[in-house]
Amino acid sequence: GLVKEFPAGASALTGRPGGVVHAVDGVSLDVAPGETLGLVGETGCGKSTLARCMARLLEPTGGRVFFEGADITHLSGARMRPLRRNLQMIFQDPFGSLNPRRRVGAIIGDPFAIHGLAGRHERKRRVQELMELVGLNPEHYNRFPAEFSGGQRQRIGIARALALRPRLLVCDEPVSALDVSIQGQIINLLADLRQELGLTYVFISHDLSVVRHVSDRIAVMYLGKIVELAPSEVLFERPRHPYTRALLSAAPVADPDAADSRRRVILGGDVPSPVAPPPGCRFHPRCPKAREDCALAEPPLVPVLGDPDEHRAACWHPLRAGEDLAAVPAPVPG
Ligand code: SF4
Ligand code: MG
Repeated sequence: GLVKEFPAGASALTGRPGGVVHAVDGVSLDVAPGETLGLVGETGCGKSTLARCMARLLEPTGGRVFFEGADITHLSGARMRPLRRNLQMIFQDPFGSLNPRRRVGAIIGDPFAIHGLAGRHERKRRVQELMELVGLNPEHYNRFPAEFSGGQRQRIGIARALALRPRLLVCDEPVSALDVSIQGQIINLLADLRQELGLTYVFISHDLSVVRHVSDRIAVMYLGKIVELAPSEVLFERPRHPYTRALLSAAPVADPDAADSRRRVILGGDVPSPVAPPPGCRFHPRCPKAREDCALAEPPLVPVLGDPDEHRAACWHPLRAGEDLAAVPAPVPG
């Protein structure tokens, strides 16, 4: 499995100096061509680090990263460049990643310049095609980022990521900074582009409701580990890991007085430090279903017994289908 550790000295997350942040700790995942894999978990669970390792913007500390059969784990510089065209990433904050003093046409055309593709006129034509593709007015080629709205700036980020016609697009919280009304537009755009260009996505969010409709499969992450992996509809219909169940119940309900709100699970405590993750099951200090044996050994991510679908969970005492967490006794003190 993939591992990414950081020296803990510079991190605000850590208590002790000289520790190691186990941001991603033994993750094995594959993404099929044309698939959208959703990656979900609370802030600090390691999703962004995993995403950056998958897109090879970070070099993992352990394990391997393969892209279309090629081992790209330690490729760098010139050897990574030809592959970089196929592997692109878009980020949460489109404004933060756009230089405010450069014109939008130049920003979107950067990848052509970096890779020495297309002369000036050809570049402009291709940039304008990209602007059209993502729903921007190509006549706004000479405008500056500040002249665009948040949603339009994310479209600029998407256009730039698509310039080299990548096959894999890793989207890290691409709509989290946007108004809810704009979120849907960007999600629809990404879904359309996937169809039109045959893209493969890794789609990251802390919000399960955001990844629900775009993902073929969803992986739920907790403290550097995948704790549940299933086709999207299976995950929503019959979650087996107590953490997934808690995330699902924490998703906003339309009517807070509705019967459903009684079944909300409030997770106690903070996410523990990734420097010293709890022993055994990392979720045990917060798990409403924890028993004493949960702290003894780490549960492996294994197929859910009796489930006809490709469904995996990492829990010693997985929930039964439809089991209500609210009816489960309080956790064993961690
Ligand atoms: Fe909860 Fe135990 Fe399952 Fe961990 S292994 S999720 S503590 S029931
Ligand atoms: Mg993040």
